[in-house]
Amino acid sequence: MAFKKRIRHRDILESQVERVIVLSLYDVLIIGGGPAGLTAAIYACRAGRKTLLLEKGVFGGQAVSTEIIENYPGFPEGISGFELMINFHKQAERFGCEFLNAEVLELKTAGESKKVITSTGEAVGKTIILATGSKPRELGVRGEKEFHGKGVSYCATCDGFFYRNKKVAVVGGGDSAVKEALYLANMVREVVLIHRRDQLRADKILGEKAIATPNIKICWDTVIDEIIGEDKIKALKTHNIKSQQTKDIDVDGVFMYVGSQPNTEFLGAEFEKNPQGYLLTNENLETSVPGVFAIGDCREKLSRQVATAVGDGALVFSAVEEYLQRD
Ligand code: NAP
Repeated sequence: MAFKKRIRHRDILESQVERVIVLSLYDVLIIGGGPAGLTAAIYACRAGRKTLLLEKGVFGGQAVSTEIIENYPGFPEGISGFELMINFHKQAERFGCEFLNAEVLELKTAGESKKVITSTGEAVGKTIILATGSKPRELGVRGEKEFHGKGVSYCATCDGFFYRNKKVAVVGGGDSAVKEALYLANMVREVVLIHRRDQLRADKILGEKAIATPNIKICWDTVIDEIIGEDKIKALKTHNIKSQQTKDIDVDGVFMYVGSQPNTEFLGAEFEKNPQGYLLTNENLETSVPGVFAIGDCREKLSRQVATAVGDGALVFSAVEEYLQRD
């Protein structure tokens, strides 16, 4: 079901974005089509600002592959990330947002007009909003790269289907790991949740649900030393960090949820970042480059949720509008 939905989503969203780049001057160029970028687009377009939103992948960002979002207000029973993002996109489109599927390679931000160099051409804007989000972080153990796609995955919604009635591991103790362990528990035989501490970082309700789920087994204080197998993975070599006891855990797949890293590598030294690469912004969400703003998961902040991304997208527009009115 989820797979069919994703195909339809791609069909709908990508059919509208293969437009030739327009070399006119935009008021707002938004880079990144997740919840933050799409919200900024809704606000900017509704206020009559000529807006182009650039996205290198599928619109909706990481939220698209979230089976159910339960803490986004307005949906008492929860809503699938896919459905929510389709609606965000439709709403931005209704207000006249232009979309382009292209990878942004470089920004030229000196001067009044800012240039975005993409894989398909250039776009020029008076302001830029960076909403590039983040990507899953690799665990960094032996065998991880070798077995990527052969048992190692970073997306349960995308790949869980292949492990029906099999045994899988999920690594991490945050909201993502626990949520995805719960999702996988509905289709696989057994989920082994491997966490390096004796306490989950995840939301209490999620944690309690996981602990109460019969086919989720939690390995506390445990880290993976190596992923082993032949054509595909067979087992995880682990050890307990308190007892130092080693153990091989037989699994058919392993899903990594050990945090994320921002998509900010393409930005030059003029952009101030924290040591992890997240963009630093002021209270108006403006970066160290005047007229360039950052919203959502790519900026340094305490909470990375769809609701906080939406908050950033709405808030930034007031600052962008103020900047545009300085002209
Ligand atoms: P996270 O909160 O940073 O959790 C990462 C987890 O991975 C932590 O439990 C961490 O362990 C573990 N970890 C990190 N590096 C590791 C390593 N080298 N080896 C073993 N374990 C390692 O990341 P996240 O779960 O992706 O969540 C990111 C943000 O999105 C959070 O703000 C979260 O609340 C939000 N989110 C919300 C929802 C929701 O439905 N509300 C869903 C998904 C994500 P420690 O605990 O020991 O540090």
